[in-house]
Amino acid sequence: MTLRLYNTLTRTKELFESFDPANVRLYVCGPTLYDFAHIGNARPVIVFDVLYRLLRHLYGAEHVTYVRNITDVDDKINARAAEEYPDLPLNEAIRRVTEKTEKQFHADVAALGCLPPTLQPRATEHIAEMTAMIEKIVHNGCAYVAEDHVLFNVAAMPDYGKLSGRSLDEMVAGARVEVAPFKRDPMDFVLWKPSKPGEPSWPSPAGISTPGRPGWHIECSAMSWKHLGETFDIHGGGIDLVFPHHENEIAQSRCAFDAPVMARYWLHNGFLQVEGEKMAKSLGNFVTIRDLLNGWGGYAWPGEALRFAMLRTHYRQPLDWTLAALDEAHRTLWEWYGDVESRAEDAAVSQPVLEALADDLNTPKAIAAMHELHSTGKWTELRAALGFLGFSGERKAIERVRAGQEQAAASADVDSLIAARNAARKAKNFAEADRIRDELAAMGIELKDAKDPKTGELVTTWEVAR
Ligand SMILES: [Zn+2]
Repeated sequence: MTLRLYNTLTRTKELFESFDPANVRLYVCGPTLYDFAHIGNARPVIVFDVLYRLLRHLYGAEHVTYVRNITDVDDKINARAAEEYPDLPLNEAIRRVTEKTEKQFHADVAALGCLPPTLQPRATEHIAEMTAMIEKIVHNGCAYVAEDHVLFNVAAMPDYGKLSGRSLDEMVAGARVEVAPFKRDPMDFVLWKPSKPGEPSWPSPAGISTPGRPGWHIECSAMSWKHLGETFDIHGGGIDLVFPHHENEIAQSRCAFDAPVMARYWLHNGFLQVEGEKMAKSLGNFVTIRDLLNGWGGYAWPGEALRFAMLRTHYRQPLDWTLAALDEAHRTLWEWYGDVESRAEDAAVSQPVLEALADDLNTPKAIAAMHELHSTGKWTELRAALGFLGFSGERKAIERVRAGQEQAAASADVDSLIAARNAARKAKNFAEADRIRDELAAMGIELKDAKDPKTGELVTTWEVAR
């Protein structure tokens, strides 16, 4: 079977050929975690999980390396850390925020049926690789030092803009370019910059004496280099990352290693909107994975229904996330599972399903083939296809409950955890108290502390985190 993938770099569907079939290498940009991940973040996680499963099937599980990074150097994380833990040293506060949100993220994507990637490197653990890479780029003449910044000089890379298909002039006109007097060209971008007071900092590269911090783009170039090598097979991410993030990753990696390509195939999933509108906190339609699992439109939705709803649209198409579509996805799974759950799980995956997936991950076509399996009574084959795509095939895993019911069932546990936390606080065991608070937060429970005005006793109430 041949795999064909749409390559953003060439704007064509191409036959996939690995540099090394004994080690097929995939890198996907992960989210910046300072809060619960939204449903838009779930899309690349699910899409590239399907690709990962398909590559494992085609090349053997032990011959595929999938790296998805965790961005933990970011202004939003710094701000959240200062806000949530004002009394802690900044590094400790940042660690707490990123550990908590990482735990939440892993719980959420596991609920969506996604396999853990082979590696999930963190930016803060790869500063040495970033500074080494910056030194190489400066040495190769593609970057320069100005006012304690290291800037990539886009003029040094004649085909800068190839991925996004834009000329330099168009990019200058269209992008929100940060104008700085020390830049040689307005499109030049930051590889390294000085840390402001209250920001984390590390020893700087390129002979800069003051401590600083990396720019965002360099982290993916450095982590993919460390874990996948100078050149690898597939780089994925959301379409919003094509420019400038991926364009800049390519410029950095190609210049550092004097290589014709960074990755051979560039895959991008389309935008996601909610009920026909762009998702935004200001529009009140901002929805997290956790919201959906806990209660959205009156129901706590099983993760498998979210996954199925996502895969009904081809990954390159824009996706409209609606309650009606989610309900329909759930009803289809419920009907199928009723018929397949008694069947053996280990049948071979049927050819039409695999062929659809091998045709640029055409999940709607694969799902049409699964409908056909269902309507013709081929339930063992349907179960195999479901399992291949990350679905349990068991009705008990997809019971949809009225939002609130599940929380009521869980509230006994929550109450006893809160009692344990307050006892720990009373005993001045704040580490344990924080640990329990974080455990509750990972369950999606947010605590509110208040003093009873009459008794002076601490009263803790809880709600499902938004
Ligand atoms: Zn990236």
